[in-house]
Amino acid sequence: MPPQRKMPAPLADEAARCVACGLCLPHCPTYRKTLSEADSPRGRIALMQGVLERHIPANERFMAHIDLCLACRACENVCPNKVEYGRLINGVRGIVEKSRRRGVLRRLGRHILMDGVATRPAIMRLVGGALRAWQAMAGKAGGLMRFGLARIAARLPPLRPQPVWKAVYPTAGKVRGKVGLFLGCVARVADVETLSASIFVLNRLGYTVHVPPRQGCCGAMHEGLGEPEKARVFEEQNLRAFAAVNLEAVISTATGCGAALKNYPQDFAGRVRDISEFLAEAGGWEEAGTMKLAEKVAVHEPCLMRNVLHCEDKPYDLLRHIPGASIVPLVGNDQCCGAAGTYFLTQPEMAASLLADKIEAVKASGARILATSNIGCAMHLAVGLKAAGIEIEVVHPITLLARQMGFENDNNR
Ligand code: SF4
Ligand code: SF4
Repeated sequence: MPPQRKMPAPLADEAARCVACGLCLPHCPTYRKTLSEADSPRGRIALMQGVLERHIPANERFMAHIDLCLACRACENVCPNKVEYGRLINGVRGIVEKSRRRGVLRRLGRHILMDGVATRPAIMRLVGGALRAWQAMAGKAGGLMRFGLARIAARLPPLRPQPVWKAVYPTAGKVRGKVGLFLGCVARVADVETLSASIFVLNRLGYTVHVPPRQGCCGAMHEGLGEPEKARVFEEQNLRAFAAVNLEAVISTATGCGAALKNYPQDFAGRVRDISEFLAEAGGWEEAGTMKLAEKVAVHEPCLMRNVLHCEDKPYDLLRHIPGASIVPLVGNDQCCGAAGTYFLTQPEMAASLLADKIEAVKASGARILATSNIGCAMHLAVGLKAAGIEIEVVHPITLLARQMGFENDNNR
């Protein structure tokens, strides 16, 4: 029988734990932008409590304030009463989603995207191939690149052919341990380089890497869009897939997935590690042979890495293994970039405003490389930087490190 999760307290009881002290307000990106109590964590909790206790209706005005929340959980991170804001917002979204009136086409589009495409590896492979073809045609397609699949292709980094992942990548040297690699849905299409680079570095440091073939989506998208039952189906699939091998750690390369995996039952969640976190504490660096890089590297800290995984210092530790590199934090790392899963699509105005702050911070940093550990943030930032005419490479810290260790992404590993 798969491990069972502990039953959480009812949502209304959790909301009632907020003592309205307001200490979270200055940390909330939407409150900073709007200065509206209803778009602050305290205001949203009061609204949610009103709906949960049936004092106010879950109408469009209520949903507008709930939808504008990034679920960045900066409020949760600073709350002295440890109110579980993430569980509240996801839970309330789940309740109101069922009674929400959406157009048939919108519902169908969301269903196809979430359940028919993004969470099915075989379909994602086909979509990835199509997106790559569009990217190859970009120069000839001109105005067509503004529509449909081509519009998505234009937002993505240059896509690489997707490898058929082997079940096991053994280390060639002294064996230090055995770990599993979580592929994710978006990353297996848009961030093949990061996944391959992770295997390269783990192998080089003495870790055999297992890539369970039956793993699926982490469930974060469904959880965040108020469909927890579907998220649990993915959870069970992953628990079964990774249970087949006795692993000391399950490595995630995208902080969105890592945060979702940390919400699985404890005996699995306790072994989940972000790649930077795991490698920063791993041995074997004396023989790693990392080449010098005389560049300034600015580090963008994804929200869930700061507010849920609490390992935002680890990418810096990892990048310090590169001799000659100057590693600096991006100013304003305590604020979300606006990507936030599908937020940049559903709330484009707020997302653009938050992105503009990041663009200014990148300009001020003077860095020529921007490192971030989340593919969603990386894509959102890269689009903004390109539009602003700023030439800077946006890269995962592990990819940058792997390159300095001799990694070349040939997709044949
Ligand atoms: S810091 Fe916590 S207790 Fe205080 S207002 Fe915010 S959520 Fe409520
Ligand atoms: S999750 Fe983020 S955007 Fe939402 S209330 Fe908390 S700090 Fe504000």
